[in-house]
Amino acid sequence: MTVRRVVVIGAGTAGLAAALTLAARGLDVTVVERAERPGGKMREVAIGARGIDSGPTVFTMRWVFDELFAELGETLENHVTLRPLDILARHAWSSGARLDLFADEARSMDAIGDFSGRTDAQGYRAFCADAKKIFDVLKSPFICAPAPSMTALLRSSGFRDLTAIKPFQTMWKALGGYFADPRLQQLFGRYATYCGSSPFLAPATLMLVAHVESAGVWMVEGGMYRLAAALAGLAIERGARIRYGAEVARVITESGEVAAVGLSDGERIAADAVIATADVGAIAQGLFGGEAVKASAGYPEAARSLSAMTWSCVAQARGFPLLRHNVFFSRDYRVEFESLSNQRRMPTEPTVYVCAQDRDDTATTLETAERLFILINAPAIGDRHRFEPAEVEQCAQRTFGVLERCGLSLETRPEMMQVTTPTDFNRLFPGTGGALYGRSSHGWMASFQRPGARTKLPGLFLAGGSAHPGPGVPMAALSGRMAAASVIEDLDSTARSRTTAMPGGMSTR
Ligand SMILES: Cc1cc2nc3c(=O)[nH]c(=O)nc-3n(C[C@H](O)[C@H](O)[C@H](O)COP(=O)(O)OP(=O)(O)OC[C@H]3O[C@@H](n4cnc5c(N)ncnc54)[C@H](O)[C@@H]3O)c2cc1C
Repeated sequence: MTVRRVVVIGAGTAGLAAALTLAARGLDVTVVERAERPGGKMREVAIGARGIDSGPTVFTMRWVFDELFAELGETLENHVTLRPLDILARHAWSSGARLDLFADEARSMDAIGDFSGRTDAQGYRAFCADAKKIFDVLKSPFICAPAPSMTALLRSSGFRDLTAIKPFQTMWKALGGYFADPRLQQLFGRYATYCGSSPFLAPATLMLVAHVESAGVWMVEGGMYRLAAALAGLAIERGARIRYGAEVARVITESGEVAAVGLSDGERIAADAVIATADVGAIAQGLFGGEAVKASAGYPEAARSLSAMTWSCVAQARGFPLLRHNVFFSRDYRVEFESLSNQRRMPTEPTVYVCAQDRDDTATTLETAERLFILINAPAIGDRHRFEPAEVEQCAQRTFGVLERCGLSLETRPEMMQVTTPTDFNRLFPGTGGALYGRSSHGWMASFQRPGARTKLPGLFLAGGSAHPGPGVPMAALSGRMAAASVIEDLDSTARSRTTAMPGGMSTR
């Protein structure tokens, strides 16, 4: 019997997870990646001789990878070294106002009690219980399902009624019911940004992200990029080919079915199925040809999720006891998101995330310059707005100003810092404007509008952070696995129907 050929577009988390699953099943898998390295958004920037994780830094839902590796007869620990964090993140509003969040709920409750009072500590307990309930209700019928389906959700066994997942209330409003202290509303509202969304527009359903984080955050020794490298290495070991520096320009069809992909240099790679992990917005814009456009519903520019402006740097940090993950809040979250979501402009005072990659969750004094990844949210306008040096400099001043206000001063040299703007993200991930999480999760229907693995075009499948079940490293891996499962199912069923039609089961392709 002919071995079925699958082309996977993109060697990011989703593409590599899909390739691994398919190669392990004996399919002929070619991953085509336009960048020179694996990882996609899980990328590493070199400053001098030091690599800095400059994409995802918070590793959660490790069970997704445990399952993926177990399916291959492997264990995750044999490929990357993980360490759970006791302190999830340190949050600061000024030099005197700081709050740590712990993996242990009781410790977080105590910390919140000291910070905001007893009532908010109890509010936190209720918040955790409700966030867990939302995750538990959605895990199997929605998150782990190959496509978003309201019907499947309503029919699922644990589902009582829609209000249990809080779809009709904004996250910000719901948080006001748990916390009287607006700083806590801001801290927990920030979880909406993990999906590139505004807490003022996203449904309270996204509280589940807080649950995911409190269920465990792990540090990957050597950086998150090690995970991408491990996935790519294992995919090759299992027989997949990865072609770096090769760009797919077209999905080619014959008789209304996928037959090949065409590369930008004219090469054609035949395929019985194609899994595209580029942003669905890019597919809808025609970056993979007309047939693919018809197959996939994109989303309008107004629905794009957030982009970011980031600084990967080696700097001497003073005045603030940095941990691995640190958040420095703006003084007015509503004004910040009014700029980001409504005016589509850089905020005058951003909230700043700092990942201190030479630190863990214990207080450490570092006498030498350390590796930092600094991120602020930005509107996804990278395809129609050029971030000129003066504007980037203004953003840097505002960003580093927030850090100074909270007591952190950074000393670095220009050659020790690399900035990435939404324009750069649009260049790295074309057709997105720099949006990093697909469509935003604004409004209660948004999560149902992400496409599932199957498309209208036979043989074309979608996966990745812009497809169902959504953005984030584990979610992208889940989508890759689900797309691979759909490919296997469909190729098996066409093989069966051909066998029935043609005794002897000869493939016609
Ligand atoms: C700055 C930043 C911080 C983040 N923080 C976190 C975090 O802390 N935790 C977390 O879980 N998630 C985080 N995320 C989100 C997470 O990184 C993504 O959701 C996830 O990595 C997406 O993986 P993917 O495989 O879907 O897409 P991608 O990683 O974008 O992979 C798609 C790949 O397709 C390739 N490609 C596109 N078009 C073509 C073409 N025409 N031909 C060939 N190849 C093509 C691209 O080059 C890319 O490598 C963050 C993202 C960013 C950018």
